[in-house]
Amino acid sequence: MSNVPVAVVTGSNKGIGLAIVRALCKQFPGDVYLTSRDPGRGQAAVAQLQQEGLKPLFHQLDIDDLQSIRALRDFLKEKYGGINVLVNNAGIAFKVQDTTPFPIQAEVTLKTNFFGTRNVCTELLPLMKPYGRVVNVSSMVSSSALGGCSQELQQKFRSDTITEEELVQLMNKFVEDTKKNVHQKEGWPNTAYGVSKIGVTVLSRIQARLLNENRKGDHILLNACCPGWVRTDMAGPQATKSPDEGAETPVYLALLPSNADAPHGQFVSNKTVKPW
Ligand code: NAP
Repeated sequence: MSNVPVAVVTGSNKGIGLAIVRALCKQFPGDVYLTSRDPGRGQAAVAQLQQEGLKPLFHQLDIDDLQSIRALRDFLKEKYGGINVLVNNAGIAFKVQDTTPFPIQAEVTLKTNFFGTRNVCTELLPLMKPYGRVVNVSSMVSSSALGGCSQELQQKFRSDTITEEELVQLMNKFVEDTKKNVHQKEGWPNTAYGVSKIGVTVLSRIQARLLNENRKGDHILLNACCPGWVRTDMAGPQATKSPDEGAETPVYLALLPSNADAPHGQFVSNKTVKPW
């Protein structure tokens, strides 16, 4: 088994994820795994970074596929005995002009952004080593979508006692409510991406709380963040930040020094804790 520290970035064949891998290759003292659901796209991205003189490693990972997540888990457990840095970056968004019916957009978006990210956490968080760092890439859109929820939902999503099971129930309820076309009457905002990212931010708050309760002595720090508005296939060419600039906050959280005890369980944007 290798004693080399290891960092893993989900959805890193392009966009912000690729830029996070680039920065970690330069700054993280260990092995850095670029992962992609498509091995061809993943290997092409590895080759691109190799051209820049960097040495990322590759592993397949489709966060929609539990078998794929478990294969990565088993590989990391066997080769490294755990994980030092996990960046949950993989995500999707339908374009504004996409005509796919809203209930399908809701189901598909929640499936990857919330349920896929949660499945990665369920399988990989138990492998986090002491002083490990976990970064869940959410979005400022989670904050604006929270503001668009009913008072009752806002209270639930801001609660310091909400459980993961309750959050899962609420995310499922959103999808069901869209199918019955009652989601707005039930207090939801009209954005599937926004609700999926509420799920990512609240999940991060819950997971940080659980780490405090169960693994306090391990000094693991886990946060959600927004990368900013970044020029990628998702956000388009008008966005204000380059992918490397978008990587800055996730990488800052991934490399918090071992003597840091904060931020933890926070929503962070531009390296600054934001109120939730
Ligand atoms: P992007 O360029 O579209 O890249 C998304 C990445 O996620 C791609 O590598 C994609 O792989 C991967 N992915 C999607 N579904 C996956 C799955 N099931 N399993 C594994 N990988 C999967 O988007 P981006 O702008 O870099 O976004 C990265 C993260 O930042 C997302 O979570 C996004 O919501 C968040 N974010 C972005 C912005 C922005 O302005 N760009 C703002 C706030 C938050 P494929 O190439 O195979 O599709």
